[in-house]
Amino acid sequence: MMEEEYVFKVVVIGDSGVGKTQLLGRFTRDEFHLDSKSTIGIEFQTRTVAIAPSRRRVKAQIWDTAGQERYRAVTSAYYRGALGAMLVYDVTRRATFQHVPRWVAELRAHADKSIVVVLVGNKADLAASVPGRREVGVEEARDFAEEQGLFFFEASALSGDNVEEAFMGLLGEIYGAVS
Ligand code: GDP
Repeated sequence: MMEEEYVFKVVVIGDSGVGKTQLLGRFTRDEFHLDSKSTIGIEFQTRTVAIAPSRRRVKAQIWDTAGQERYRAVTSAYYRGALGAMLVYDVTRRATFQHVPRWVAELRAHADKSIVVVLVGNKADLAASVPGRREVGVEEARDFAEEQGLFFFEASALSGDNVEEAFMGLLGEIYGAVS
């Protein structure tokens, strides 16, 4: 069997309740749990993927904060060695978007300068299905991401929409930078 040639550490960050754990579960196990508080103690999950066009095998090691962000206690150990970050907000809760610059600052302070960052507006399913629920516009978020040099997707851990695209886009960019 072919060994993975690369292991990429990716951290998932953002306010509590935005769906970090569910995004990770969707990507690594294709699962979603409506009631999720099962992450305590689990530090990371992995999934091995093939990166186009060479189809090189990469093991993504994706870290979950396990609730540390609630106490503003995400430590620099969490960021150590991370090549990528998924910064998540909730499109139905404006405050979580307003806190994004704080998370960007945290990355700039603790992570490697060359870290690749994707901004993800999660719970797009809610914004689409419940009138009035959307509190953050797509254009606004895209403009912000562009300004900050971040990749951007709206996604839904619930429906699975764009989850694969966001993670694979991030892993592809990292691959392009390190290979
Ligand atoms: P975390 O604190 O950022 O890890 O957030 P969780 O992954 O624990 O999710 C918080 C809550 O939002 C849970 O009740 C999830 O079921 C819900 N949730 C997460 N992602 C989505 C999504 O894409 N759509 C909807 N409708 N709910 C979601």
